[in-house]
Amino acid sequence: MFVRISDLQIRDFAFHLEIKPGALALPGDPFAQEEPVRADGVVHYRVATREILVRGSLSTIVSYPCDRCLEAIRRPLQLAFNLAYLPEDASPTEDEREVGAGEIDLAFYQDDGLNLADVLREQILLDLPMRRVCEPACGRNPLPAQGEVAESRDPRWNALAGYRPKPDPTQD
Ligand SMILES: [Zn+2]
Repeated sequence: MFVRISDLQIRDFAFHLEIKPGALALPGDPFAQEEPVRADGVVHYRVATREILVRGSLSTIVSYPCDRCLEAIRRPLQLAFNLAYLPEDASPTEDEREVGAGEIDLAFYQDDGLNLADVLREQILLDLPMRRVCEPACGRNPLPAQGEVAESRDPRWNALAGYRPKPDPTQD
């Protein structure tokens, strides 16, 4: 859904969206939509700074594969956002960016407006954890990373931890 500045200059744009499963995630995204994305909010254009402001909330359930065992993890989302987009030609130079690095999240729009679906998709991507494991102790790592071998033992082996085979009477 594309919101045009020319429309925003007349009035704010209030949105109440329900985006069907599969309509938001792009190929290559780490998540899939399990439920519709429901989003409400308002888009405002600040003439003085040419900023597009988006305020609202979204809810849905996404799923993504566990980094270790590849099983699907379901994650209910309930996000609120308050975002400001600058026109791309206002993008600061490298020098200016160094000064403000880490202080502000700068986002930009191209052309004459903003695609709301992109905004929502980005919020979902930003909310996904960096380390995507189904549980902290998930031990079914098919390819254990170095240093993780000890903790990645399948917990089902714990039952055998104290087991020692009886001495073989035929030996000795
Ligand atoms: Zn797992």
